[in-house]
Amino acid sequence: METLTSCPLCGEKGPFSIHIQCRDYLVSQEIFTVAHCASCGLLFTNPRPSLDEMSDFYQSDEYISHAETVTSLQDKVYMKVKRRMLSQKLSLLKKHLNRQFFANLTRKSAQDLNVHSSSSNLYRILDFGCGTGAFVKGATEQGIDAIGFEPDFSAREVAAKQGVQVIGTENELGALAENSLHAITLWHVIEHLHDFKDKLNHFHRLLKPGGVLFLAAPMGNSSDAVMYGKYWAAWDLPRHILHFTPSTLKRAGEDSGFDYKDKNPLPFDAWYISLISEQYKKKEKQLEKTGKGQNGQTLLPALKAGAKGSWSNLKAITGASPWSSQTFVFVKPADKLK
Ligand SMILES: [Zn+2]
Repeated sequence: METLTSCPLCGEKGPFSIHIQCRDYLVSQEIFTVAHCASCGLLFTNPRPSLDEMSDFYQSDEYISHAETVTSLQDKVYMKVKRRMLSQKLSLLKKHLNRQFFANLTRKSAQDLNVHSSSSNLYRILDFGCGTGAFVKGATEQGIDAIGFEPDFSAREVAAKQGVQVIGTENELGALAENSLHAITLWHVIEHLHDFKDKLNHFHRLLKPGGVLFLAAPMGNSSDAVMYGKYWAAWDLPRHILHFTPSTLKRAGEDSGFDYKDKNPLPFDAWYISLISEQYKKKEKQLEKTGKGQNGQTLLPALKAGAKGSWSNLKAITGASPWSSQTFVFVKPADKLK
């Protein structure tokens, strides 16, 4: 474990106040702490596992991001939601790519290249932390030249089997040409990164001027986060080491030289996260009673999750609090061409 003495976003020196303490219900059953930086508002896991220790906390069949077998109710919900979210993410990607780059193509060059406004085969993108490669595959099917980065070997193998172009080492990442990419996407990945600042600076170099960066993350001040408190599943300690809010995520992008453009909701996350949060609540009660956690399915937690997820989305629609998860869209300014 390592203890941070300065804020990973603004560099302010500690000590930091405790925002919340939660159990890792997924793997270790240990309690971890989320610290709060009074200066910039960042929430971060502190102390946190070092990069080398991190893999110990991913050893669970329940870690669905990389799992292929679907058994429980929340897995089924997750798979359904995942398919729906995939098409939403692809539309968002194409919308911003066309907005940023098609405008730069003259009518003549578009004809020469045999493309029209809805075509996307001119674009080259990187999906960082691509998991088993669903997004890369989806983008490729839309005619985008897409490559994935995934450090986990088994996830990478699944991706490769699907014919997805995927890399997994820092050397391979470093070999990508600067100013060569039209977009980089991180779907629920930035909250896992020990070196997020170095990575964002690297992404800035990899993107072409006008290139688009998509950062999707859970919002630590969303209504479902507040309602569920220490049971909120998107704390996901200690796998999530950063816990963003709209202002801190915006700042993270801007500090690396990006212009903030837009934010978009991921409305299904509120229901999915609420469903797991209800199960964590149940697990905690069982732990208190028997000292042993157990997964159980009943209709009542699912109904409660549906109600709380809906309430969270309703509050987000009215602007009273952020969505459970949001995608922030940034652009590398054209005037910062090297
Ligand atoms: Zn700070």
